[in-house]
Amino acid sequence: MTDNLSDTPRKSSGAGHLTFYILGAVIAAVVVALLFPEVAMSFEIGGEIFLRVLFMMVVPLVMASVMSGIIGLGDIRKLGRPGGAAILYYVTTTVLAVLVGLVLVSLIRPGVGTVDQQTLDAITAEQGAVSAEQGEADVGTIMRNLVLMMFTDNLISAAGEAQLLPLIVFSIIFAGMLTTMGARVKAITEMIVQINDALLSFILLLMKVAPLGVFCLVAARFGEAQAEGEFLQVLSQTGWYFSTVILGLATHAFFTLPLILWVFTRRNPFQFMFQMSQALLTAFSTASSTATLPVTMECAVAKGGVSKQSTDFVVPLGATINMDGTALYEATAAIFIAQALGFELGLLELLTVAVTATLAAIGAAGIPEAGLVTMVIVLNAVGLPVEYIGLILSVDWLLDRFRTAVNVFGDSVGSAVVEKSFPESA
Ligand code: ASP
Repeated sequence: MTDNLSDTPRKSSGAGHLTFYILGAVIAAVVVALLFPEVAMSFEIGGEIFLRVLFMMVVPLVMASVMSGIIGLGDIRKLGRPGGAAILYYVTTTVLAVLVGLVLVSLIRPGVGTVDQQTLDAITAEQGAVSAEQGEADVGTIMRNLVLMMFTDNLISAAGEAQLLPLIVFSIIFAGMLTTMGARVKAITEMIVQINDALLSFILLLMKVAPLGVFCLVAARFGEAQAEGEFLQVLSQTGWYFSTVILGLATHAFFTLPLILWVFTRRNPFQFMFQMSQALLTAFSTASSTATLPVTMECAVAKGGVSKQSTDFVVPLGATINMDGTALYEATAAIFIAQALGFELGLLELLTVAVTATLAAIGAAGIPEAGLVTMVIVLNAVGLPVEYIGLILSVDWLLDRFRTAVNVFGDSVGSAVVEKSFPESA
């Protein structure tokens, strides 16, 4: 048994096949869901198990990888340049994504006239699915909350709730301190690096059942949608909105990010996308960039050839705060709602949407439909009634999958771009 385990990580020959198995699983699951929705729904338990096992890895992996990334640097002060590069990358790509969303939604104007008064009334009446936490949403308050999100007064409960930011902050400080303590802490530093290696082997093992897990996840959710007739709704009522967000996500994933990757690394962007495809498909299946994190890290290093140091540092933080797809969606959805309600937004309001969508995406957790909840911030900021989130509710579960894949691709590209700024990257 043990021999098998330690062998696993080195065998990368099956990696290509695995991608096709996962892709096949997604396609098969959609077909089964459309034809036999009731049967498809019965796979829910398998999906839930896969999701739980992925999530189980997240907290130890984030702590071990961030710490071992810093230990690998040898000295916390060397983090300055890559740290700055990572933050610059996160902010630039998120803002670009928001701009793409704003331009497309302003040109296509999917909201205008798509929703009649009757539907609006119905939505107001039946809403309740979203518990919109109303509150002041001025930029100052949002910033304050974002800063507070980085700190916890209880590390154990932060770990219990998978709040990754405080864990990352702790890991950076703790590992930074270890690097200054020399031989006295040799056993601890070695142990952290070894735990990190062991966790990666664990993930490789997990990936062997990924096609099965992915099949169950997709079949169950799509089956449920089919049984409830949500697919038809997607096509009719919110088709233009849906297409606008998809077009924006595609522009970001197939144009903006590839261009950035090529300019900074001269890598072939589409080859890189293929190398990351297991992570992208897992993101699509789980709708959670946090659950996908183990796969993203494994793919970036083992398939994308990104240095472990850069991956360890850029991807966990990115999974938490760098959400290009979510930012693009938040901006587009807010303007769509404004258009549907007949609100004309001026330049100042558009700017407010851009800023708050960026902040809302940073604040969104990497879990399914987190973006829908933080969108309250954007709507509040421009004075749009929060209950009209109901307008986009029916398709959110599906859009969530695409934006999560874009979020994960953004993090992967980030690890390759920021790699260049590490002092002595191999
Ligand atoms: N589900 C997304 C993620 O995990 C967040 C969101 O946009 O809802 O990346």
